[in-house]
Amino acid sequence: MVSERMKGLGTARSVIRELFEYGKLRAAEIGAENVFDFSIGNPSVPAPAAVNETAIRLLREQPNLIHAYTSAQGAADARERFADSLNRRFDARCTPDRLYLTVGAAASLCCVFNGLTCPGDEFIVFAPYFPEYKVFIEGAGAKMVLIPPEIEGFQIDFDAFEKALSPNTKGVLVNSPNNPSGVVYSRTTLERLAAILTEKSKEFGHPIYLISDEPYREIVYAGFEVPWAPHIYRDTIVCYSFSKSLSLPGERIGYVFVPKEAAEGDDVYAAVAGAGRSLGYVNAPSLFQQVTSLCCDMTADLKIYEENAKLFVSALREMGYHVVEPGGAFYLFPRSLEPDDMAFSERAKKLDLLIVPGAGFGAPGHVRISYCVQTDTIRRALPKFQALADSYK
Ligand code: PLP
Repeated sequence: MVSERMKGLGTARSVIRELFEYGKLRAAEIGAENVFDFSIGNPSVPAPAAVNETAIRLLREQPNLIHAYTSAQGAADARERFADSLNRRFDARCTPDRLYLTVGAAASLCCVFNGLTCPGDEFIVFAPYFPEYKVFIEGAGAKMVLIPPEIEGFQIDFDAFEKALSPNTKGVLVNSPNNPSGVVYSRTTLERLAAILTEKSKEFGHPIYLISDEPYREIVYAGFEVPWAPHIYRDTIVCYSFSKSLSLPGERIGYVFVPKEAAEGDDVYAAVAGAGRSLGYVNAPSLFQQVTSLCCDMTADLKIYEENAKLFVSALREMGYHVVEPGGAFYLFPRSLEPDDMAFSERAKKLDLLIVPGAGFGAPGHVRISYCVQTDTIRRALPKFQALADSYK
């Protein structure tokens, strides 16, 4: 006998992965250049040269030490560098003893959900959302409460949000810039959210934490601002990853930051560390603790994403697609041209356009397009998007 839940998670692929795998098979049949795979969010730009140079230097200079165990929460010198960088860039008042390094944002989130959850707890998530949140939250034994999308701008439906808050609400998860909408929550949105959370924390007699999932923090376009969330709401816990900013998704490295000011912050940090221990996420990869902490003020060359976004948005709008302007990340989330986003995605697939149905992100009637691809791929795909639109006329 095995856990049915785990068996289900281990055998059922996500729709994104299904399309991605299909794309590889199809590429073998008709040639990779003829498949327009916008399914997955793998950064298309290389990591900065300094990342590889630093890794090589460390491997040469410290051939034994660099592979050794570090403290469970991460090496002290690496955490010190991350703290310094956050303080310089965001005036974060971060100290190394409030950083827990772990394997990417996925593990950071799991440590936070597992660390915070008590029986009966709920976490609020806004659609459209990264589908793994449900897996992480339920894996921690909590309930995910989903707020339907505010489809005009993908900000927050505050009426629905206020109705969903209850004494069981332990936390609220935000992800800005957002996967899958590409939208950045405005300062006004975050301030309104903070005001409600402050009031409701008082009313319920316990803190409601804001969990800010920020793997796309640095991928933000001209005219948009990603405010430092703990400055807007005190009881914020930050989950970060270098997967996208440094183009290092396979190296599995990120951190949880529990600000000193956050309510019961000592306990929260201890619980995050305890969850890391219980999940086996201690000691993030030591080579990349060092590499990323020595390169954490840099990013990969991210400007291609903004160029791709501009090209894609204006072309799609001209063809008659409805798409909310992205402020960052590398996703577009246009409306599907029929209410059934699965059928729309299937019709696109027949044209070798791989785009992900929105239902899995909690926003049916939309599709996600990952534009972390070469600009030329987008240019060559545009006639296919036109043909798709024409097929509905
Ligand atoms: N959160 C969001 C919104 C994401 O899009 C992703 C990955 O795509 C993750 C978390 C997980 O990131 P990581 O690779 O750092 O585990």
